[in-house]
Amino acid sequence: MFGWMGKIIKIDLTQRIIENYPVPADWWEKYLGGRGLGVKIYNEICSAQTDPFSAENAVIFLTGPLTGTVFTSGRYQVVSRSPLTGTICDSSSGGSFGAILKRTGVDGLIITGKAEKPVYLEMVESEIFIKTAEDIWGLNTQQTRDKLTARLKSGASVASIGPAGENLVPFAAIMNDKDRAAGRGGMGAVMGSKNLKAISVYGTKMTKVHDNEKLKELQVKLDRLIDKNPITGKSLPLLGTSVLVNIINAHGMYPTENFKRGVFNDAEGTSGEKITENLLQSKSACFRCPIACGRSTATSRKSGEGPEYETVWAFGAQLGVNDLNAITEANYACNELGLDTITTGSTIGCAMELIEQGAMDWDLKWGDAAKLVDLVTDIAYKKGWGKDLALGSKQLAQKYGRPELAMQVKGMELPAYDPRGVQGQALAYATSSRGGCHMKAYMISTEILGEPVFMDRFSTAGKAEIVTLFQDISAVVDSLILCRFIQFAFATETFCKMLEYVTGIKFDEAKLLEVGKRIYTLERDFNCRAGFTRDDDNLPSRFLQEKLEEGPSRNRIVELDSMLTEYYKVRGWNETGIPLEETKKELGI
Ligand code: SF4
Repeated sequence: MFGWMGKIIKIDLTQRIIENYPVPADWWEKYLGGRGLGVKIYNEICSAQTDPFSAENAVIFLTGPLTGTVFTSGRYQVVSRSPLTGTICDSSSGGSFGAILKRTGVDGLIITGKAEKPVYLEMVESEIFIKTAEDIWGLNTQQTRDKLTARLKSGASVASIGPAGENLVPFAAIMNDKDRAAGRGGMGAVMGSKNLKAISVYGTKMTKVHDNEKLKELQVKLDRLIDKNPITGKSLPLLGTSVLVNIINAHGMYPTENFKRGVFNDAEGTSGEKITENLLQSKSACFRCPIACGRSTATSRKSGEGPEYETVWAFGAQLGVNDLNAITEANYACNELGLDTITTGSTIGCAMELIEQGAMDWDLKWGDAAKLVDLVTDIAYKKGWGKDLALGSKQLAQKYGRPELAMQVKGMELPAYDPRGVQGQALAYATSSRGGCHMKAYMISTEILGEPVFMDRFSTAGKAEIVTLFQDISAVVDSLILCRFIQFAFATETFCKMLEYVTGIKFDEAKLLEVGKRIYTLERDFNCRAGFTRDDDNLPSRFLQEKLEEGPSRNRIVELDSMLTEYYKVRGWNETGIPLEETKKELGI
C-alpha cells in the first residue's frame, strides 16, 4: 500500500486489549484519513447518544495518506464526540507528532474504555505498551513531554493532557511537541475521562511513496508557490498569524469586550508587529514547514510559544486587555495546563459582561490583565471562580440567567472575527459541524484577504455555494492531512497531484470534493441523530439584532436566514437541515 500504512490499532483501556481494527478496503479512498476516516470510524463504533465521558466513547488519533511525505505533513487529527458541544468533533494539531506516530507503522489509534488507574501509551516501532502514568499524573504538559521523551530515543514525540484534561474541563486541549495544541472541543477532557495521560511515539518506518521523482519535482514547484504567495511567503513568516490583528481591526470586525464592539482602540499595541518588536525570540515551524508561522517568545518573567492571532484576541480585545505580557503569559499558562485558549478567553469575557450587566457579582472587570493567569489556573483546577468558568460560556451564561451573552454556536465559543462584518463567515459559523469555529470554512480568506479572489464581505449573494465549497475542501485537507495555511498557496488540483504521486490513486477535483462533501454530510448526519436541528444553526442574537456602532462595519447585522435556506439546498439537505436520503445514497454514506 502506498501512502497509508494500512493499519489502525484499537486499544481498549478497560480490558487492556490491543488489536488491529479491520478497515474495509474502500474506506481509504472514500475518507482518506485524518478527520474523514476518523469520523467514519467513530460513526461505526459509537452512537450519537454516546456520552463523551463514558468508557464506551472512543477517542481516535489519525494521520493521513500525505502524513510524513510533503510540506506541513506532521499533523494529526483527533476525533470524538465533544463534551463541550455534544457534536461530532475533530481537532487538529501541528508539530511533528502525526509524522512520528505514522513512523511507528500505523495510520492511527482508536482508544476506548477507561483505565482503572492513570496510564499512558508508549509506542516504539510496532510495539505498544500500556504503562502506568501515576508518576506523571498531575504534571503539566511540558513536564510530561520532558519526562516521556527522555524515556525514548531522540526524535520521539509526545501528545499529552495537562491538569485541565485530568479535571475534565470540557474545553481541555491535547498538547504535543513544542506547545502545539489540538485545542478545540475538549478532546483533552475525553482523554482525561479515560485516565489516559499521554501517548509517546518513536518510529523509523517511512511512508511508501508511489512516485518519488514526480513528488520531488512537484515540491520544488510548490516551494516557489509558497514563497510567491504574499500570505505564506511574507505575512505569516514575518509576523505570524497575529499579522491579522491590525487587518481585522481596520475592517471594524475585531471583537472587543465580548463582541460588543468591532474596533479595539489598543489593537496596535497587541499586534503581530508589537509581538515581533517586543517578545519574539525566534520563529518556529512544524514538521517540514517552510512557512514557520510559530513564534517562540519571552516576557520579562517567562518564555514559551505564542501568542497566535486567536489567543492575542481571546486574552486581549475580547477582555479589553492591552497588556501584551499578560496576554502572552495567559497563553503560556493555557499551554502548560492544557486549555483551549479561545474558549478560555471567551468564557472569561462572557463572565466580565455578566458582571457588567449585574448578573454576577465577582470583582472582575474589563482590562483586568493582572488576574488572567490566576483565572486560567483556577479553570484548569476547577477551583474558586474557575469552577463556574470551567463550564464554558454557554452554560455559564445560562446559569446566571443571561444565555444571550454567550458568544457561541452549538456551545463552542466563536473566534476573533465579528460575523457582522463578514456574511459568509457568519454562515460558516452557523453551519460548522463542531460549533462556532472558523476552521471548517475560513471565509476570511476570500471576504477579507482576497484569496483566491475578493468577494463582497457584506453581501449574502453566492455565499451558500462558497461556504459549501470551502467546507468541503477543508474537510479534504484535514483528511490528507496538511496545514490549512497551505490552502492560500495551492489550488485543489495540487492536492490531487500530491495524492496521486503518493498513493498511486488518481484523483480529480470533482472526486476530491466529493470526498469532502461525504465527510461533511456524515458529520451533519451524526449531529442530526444527536438531536441538533435548524434551530442550532444559529448565532447569538447580538449578531442578528444589534448593529455595530463604529468603524467600517458600522450598522451591519448578519442576514442569516436566507443564506441558511439556500445553503441547505446547495447541500442536498431538507429545509430543516437533515441530509436527504438521496444525498447520502449519492455519496455512498
Ligand atoms: S504554517 Fe504554521 S501551523 Fe502550518 S505547518 Fe507551518 S508552522 Fe505549522
